[in-house]
Amino acid sequence: MNEPHYISSILIIYTGGTIGMIENPTTGVLEAFSLRSLLESVPELKRFGYEISTMQFDPPIDSSEMEPLHWSRLTKMIADNYEFYDGFVILHGTDTMSFTASALSFMLGDLCKPVILTGSQLPIGKLRTDGRENLITSIEIAAAKKNHKAVVSEVCIFFESHLMRGNRTSKVNADRFNAFRSFNYPVLARAGVQIKYDSTKVHSHGKMVPLKPHYTLDQNVVVLKLFPGISPQIVDSILTIPSIKGVVIETYGSGNAPGKDWFIEKIKAAVDRGLVVVNVTQCQIGRVQMKRYGSGHRLQEIGVVSGYDITTEAAITKLMYLFGRGYSTKKVIEKMNLSIAGEITTDFSYDD
Ligand code: ASP
Repeated sequence: MNEPHYISSILIIYTGGTIGMIENPTTGVLEAFSLRSLLESVPELKRFGYEISTMQFDPPIDSSEMEPLHWSRLTKMIADNYEFYDGFVILHGTDTMSFTASALSFMLGDLCKPVILTGSQLPIGKLRTDGRENLITSIEIAAAKKNHKAVVSEVCIFFESHLMRGNRTSKVNADRFNAFRSFNYPVLARAGVQIKYDSTKVHSHGKMVPLKPHYTLDQNVVVLKLFPGISPQIVDSILTIPSIKGVVIETYGSGNAPGKDWFIEKIKAAVDRGLVVVNVTQCQIGRVQMKRYGSGHRLQEIGVVSGYDITTEAAITKLMYLFGRGYSTKKVIEKMNLSIAGEITTDFSYDD
């Protein structure tokens, strides 16, 4: 007897962004249009034979408007529908997509189903759009199964033929179709004639586990980007914000910062007041190794936490998530040193 044919079910959540925009005929400005019109622009979707359902933000937003509140809403949309679908595709503007993917990777926790974010550089209604291919392949990835289990069970970004771990990505290009890169973690799959997954890199859950979502984030975090000539006043103005709990310092190279007394003293005072100060490199490729140079080593000595090879997007959202869980400073530091959703590489046995 033949096995009954299994029909994959996918939930598409449309938040906004260029993919669903249309040119206002009078002003020429790109404005959001409806999800229905968006899907009608890709009639090929019917040929998959999947059950495709949709939800959307009302109104859809440009991703530069994205807030932690929207991440909680997305987490809830997925959690409420988790058991009913095989996979989820989130249509999102490219500008803050890496932040959203990072936040969701922490808030959704241990996934056994795919959550794929995608968007486009050109609206889906344009002839040369990249949105059509991004959307079609994302849906195929969200539905992909092997031995009845999801091939991908994590939060990813699919863009211009690359499937990447979401919390490893950064937006790197405002013009070209290859808008995202995952510099410190290999690509999980490449879409060519076939979609080729790297099974050694992609997280694929062996079993079905219930979702344990977390909804609250703490926004009392900040990024302090170093530059030659940064003044004590600027550093002070950031480190003495009354409610601040976590600071991502974007340092030079392998985690280096000025060794001037005033700078070290101010950072030390912040650490002593209980702030979690995380060292993230301004370089896109490579990682923080505070033992490598004297200037980095001083930071380590005064209690600055290594960000390893984390992106700024993942570091800031991880801090929001950890403080949002109500963890103590000590526990936040402990967790910053661990990979909780594949966001850092910690298995460098020889340093830090
Ligand atoms: N400003 C748009 C957004 O992020 C750009 C895009 O979608 O690519 O929503």
